[in-house]
Amino acid sequence: MTIKTLFEEKKPILSFEIFPPKPDADVSVVYRAIDGLVDLNPDFISVTYGALGTSQGNTVEMASYIKNHHQKEALAHLTCIGNTKKEVDHTLDRLEQAGVSNILALRGDKPKGVVTGDFNYAKDLVHQAKQRNTFSIAAACYPEGHLESPSPEMDILFIKEKVDLGVDFLITQLFLDNDMFYDYYNKLRRNNINVPIVAGILPILNRKQIARITELSGCSLPPKFKRILEKYESDELALRQAGTAYAIEQIIDLFSWGIDGIHLYTMNRIDTTREIINSIHYIKNHLRRMK
Ligand code: FAD
Repeated sequence: MTIKTLFEEKKPILSFEIFPPKPDADVSVVYRAIDGLVDLNPDFISVTYGALGTSQGNTVEMASYIKNHHQKEALAHLTCIGNTKKEVDHTLDRLEQAGVSNILALRGDKPKGVVTGDFNYAKDLVHQAKQRNTFSIAAACYPEGHLESPSPEMDILFIKEKVDLGVDFLITQLFLDNDMFYDYYNKLRRNNINVPIVAGILPILNRKQIARITELSGCSLPPKFKRILEKYESDELALRQAGTAYAIEQIIDLFSWGIDGIHLYTMNRIDTTREIINSIHYIKNHLRRMK
């Protein structure tokens, strides 16, 4: 089965993202996190690729563990910038051999200086992976526009290019303002982008995380969220509780609106993820029965 098929069977889909350990960290900690997250019964788990200094090598192994040890669908993130077609083919071969049949095709962040390799954009990777006819392919999209895009309109046209080349579903960058997301979703649909769109949600749990996230993703902070920050930033537990509640409220609103799926950026945290899943359990099941 591929993730594409899951969207035909269920709505809303619920998925998690995990990241492999940094090169010098203990791998077993992440395997334990995977075990705990699988117990929460997501529809699929994605594994990042080289993001934020994590090891690229471990992505295939971890995706394989999710698929083969837990019999859970795995989505392997894959970036292409700075790589040759041969290198990418090698990774696609390894994924195929491991029985992982879903990839999130990404460009990756441009390194500083001259960029070598055979790829300019994620669409080039979509094109290459599609030739194999074995992968269900996802791609990224950006409700607030990608930081480098010439304009929001052009950004949407570039998303359409990726989808027309064979993307089966889209996962958004994190966002904190659902109304802004609904506008974006409607624009994608008006541009004949008709694949399932999964909303990326990150429970924000501490102040340090916020500075990093806004810098890397360009995610804006709505007034409602800023008020929470100002009120609780000096109290770790209070901010964690408020950040978790904010994410739960966002998800319930997205569910009620009719979202195709929610992708939780878990940051490998079982405790917070469990809290969120428990809070939406009956709501998700109700919607599943209605589909
Ligand atoms: P693209 O779709 O190629 O877009 C990149 C930029 O080029 C955009 O500004 C776009 O508007 C522009 N563009 C696209 N096509 C054209 C064209 N034909 N002409 C001119 N301009 C064009 N990074 C990691 O390193 N590892 C990960 O695991 C990872 N996971 C992610 C998961 C999600 C859900 C998201 C949203 C992002 C993730 N990223 C990850 C970050 C991602 O790699 C960066 O945001 C990167 O800068 C852009 O990747 P992309 O695939 O969206 O690129």
